Amino acid sequence: MDLFEYQGKQYFARYDIPVSPGGEADTVDAAVAVAEKIGYPVVVKAQVKVGGRGKAGGIKLANDADEVRLHAGNILGMDIKGHTVHRLWIELSSDIAAEYYVSFTLDRPNKVYLGMLSKEGGVDIEEVAETNPDAIKRIAINPVDGFTLEQARAWVAEADLDEAAREQAAELIVKLFTCYVEGDCDLAEINPLILTTDGIVRALDAKVTLDDNAEYRHPEWEVWAGTETEDPREAMAKAKGLNYIGLEGSVGIIANGAGLAMSTLDVVNQVGGSAANFLDIGGGANADVMTAALEVINADPSVKSIFVNIFGGITRVDEVAKGVIEALRRVDIKSPIVLRLDGTNAVEGRALLAEHLNEKLVAEPTMLEAARRAVALAGN
Ligand code: GDP
Ligand code: MG
Repeated sequence: MDLFEYQGKQYFARYDIPVSPGGEADTVDAAVAVAEKIGYPVVVKAQVKVGGRGKAGGIKLANDADEVRLHAGNILGMDIKGHTVHRLWIELSSDIAAEYYVSFTLDRPNKVYLGMLSKEGGVDIEEVAETNPDAIKRIAINPVDGFTLEQARAWVAEADLDEAAREQAAELIVKLFTCYVEGDCDLAEINPLILTTDGIVRALDAKVTLDDNAEYRHPEWEVWAGTETEDPREAMAKAKGLNYIGLEGSVGIIANGAGLAMSTLDVVNQVGGSAANFLDIGGGANADVMTAALEVINADPSVKSIFVNIFGGITRVDEVAKGVIEALRRVDIKSPIVLRLDGTNAVEGRALLAEHLNEKLVAEPTMLEAARRAVALAGN
């Protein structure tokens, strides 16, 4: 789960990482009320789960209530890289002397935590990596060894942060590491980490991705789950207990097994099409699951054809066929369906389906042929 900036800052605060005082607001009036409470000047910040808000006009300084009103009105409803702004974070403005970058993430191939620190913060870190790679100081941390204040001190010196910032930055970075590990983050990033003109170091932005696998030991995450900006298709699929990921294409995909589902996406691509989703119905390809899967795909307006790709193993194809037939009775499907059914009891399954085939329900013997047919039907 990705957190909004304000949620990331709330999470940081749990780990004693300094952030600016502020409050969230969903309306212009609420934004003014928050600003009146914390005092001026404030920064009005769009809350969307995408970077580069500043450049997109989603971050504005306001010196009084009228300016808050103006900016909040402009930013609420704004589209930032395809994300609509529904919420603002209003915080006390900082006077910035320097902007740095720091993050912790996982280096999977090397089985270590990767820390990145740079005195070139406040800008896109990918850009720094390209134009001035030496400005990014990396550190590999063995999870068994952990990370000490001494290491942090050496690191901030190596990265050449301003003298005035070093000790506070080192302390903050240790806390960020604790937040990353104990807080079960996949990513904990501060860009910019600032030194203020009066010599204070704090997090001005927060980008946090929580590791969903650790959800069971974090009851405190519950409050954020409801605010997750989900693809409406994904929300529907989740409600139905399906393993679904929405994509941009026009061929709806239903497959059993994550591996087969991924191969199906590849094959659809290979023959010139594009998938509208990833959907693994797992082993339970019965009528209920098939109905749920078809309902979700059917509700997606960009779907132009549906490719059902089942390889029967423990799941028998005749059971799947019955599921498909029953599901078609329950759901009025808009797009043509292409079936590829193979594996255990494929002959029986195909026989069951034979009398139901028509121009909107077609069967193909192989995955490749079925993909071609589905892509052709989608109009690609
Ligand atoms: P992002 O563009 O989505 O990464 O949003 P950030 O929260 O990182 O803000 C972008 C930039 O806006 C920062 O790098 C700062 O330069 C500027 N900014 C944000 N908050 C303040 C503030 O309180 N005071 C000042 N002077 N600038 C700010
Ligand atoms: Mg930022």
